[in-house]
Amino acid sequence: MANRTTTVKFCLLVATLGSSLTWAQGLAEEPAEDPAEDPFAAAEVKTTHVSGSVHFLEGVGGNLAVSVGPDGTLIVDDQFAQMAPKLMAAIDTLGGEQPKIILNTHWHGDHTGANPNFGSHGTIIAHHNVRIRLLAQPNYPRSGLPLVTYDDGIRLHFNDEDIHVQHLPKGHTDGDSVIWFKQANVIHLGDHFFNQRFPYVDIASGGSVDGLINNLEGLLDTLPDDIHIIPGHGPLGTKAHLIKTLTTVKDTAADIRARLGAGDNAADIAEDINRGFADWASGFVTAQRWVQIIQADLQAAGTTDHE
Ligand SMILES: [Zn+2]
Repeated sequence: MANRTTTVKFCLLVATLGSSLTWAQGLAEEPAEDPAEDPFAAAEVKTTHVSGSVHFLEGVGGNLAVSVGPDGTLIVDDQFAQMAPKLMAAIDTLGGEQPKIILNTHWHGDHTGANPNFGSHGTIIAHHNVRIRLLAQPNYPRSGLPLVTYDDGIRLHFNDEDIHVQHLPKGHTDGDSVIWFKQANVIHLGDHFFNQRFPYVDIASGGSVDGLINNLEGLLDTLPDDIHIIPGHGPLGTKAHLIKTLTTVKDTAADIRARLGAGDNAADIAEDINRGFADWASGFVTAQRWVQIIQADLQAAGTTDHE
């Protein structure tokens, strides 16, 4: 049973990303049998000061950026509802308060699960499509919805930071944004960046493999060499990590596409990819899943072409 915690986490992540499950069902699907095995009960929130007012928080689910300062507290993403008390306790140790502003990088439940908690006190801001996709979830709590939405982006001025929020179209989903703290020189890339891991592209939520690659390539040119990069998943990164990840995403995507086009078996392709990039599998995003994403992406592109 040593793998039990890992299994539950895995299922939660799958559930939050599965288009057929609601945000709440995902948590109900796999009830913990024993409090000691509840991943949320066992979870710890690790805080790391990045630069200026910005801290990096890791727990269960997507990574957070937290800005604490004279204007109050602002957070980027909020993991799961069950993590809200632990996140709040971590924010407290940083000298922060109940967040005034909550930014969502995208709609997935491992990034917005605690929206109803934090949104009862603060204002949630996100791309239009985040609100639309959350509204489409049955019985989604009103307090979890973004009250302010935007098309291409928005700028906030908080804790002596100019915070540039920029929408990246059709990448990980159709509602992703990156959040750049200009003075601190920190950017949160949401799930456009799984640091040195295979990517997840949610085709059913309007994502696109080439879209994700193009978005990151466009962004890379604008990033200073010494910027601190917060990934949606994985450790705090640098521009070198982003370049390495992007190169691997591009190379493996091209390889998988070529081999699928040549009629190779998906399982064989996954086995070869896994042999070359064994460390790159994380959670449910294995080499096999990465091949399936490419297949789904090709299928979606084919559908569009015939419309
Ligand atoms: Zn995601």
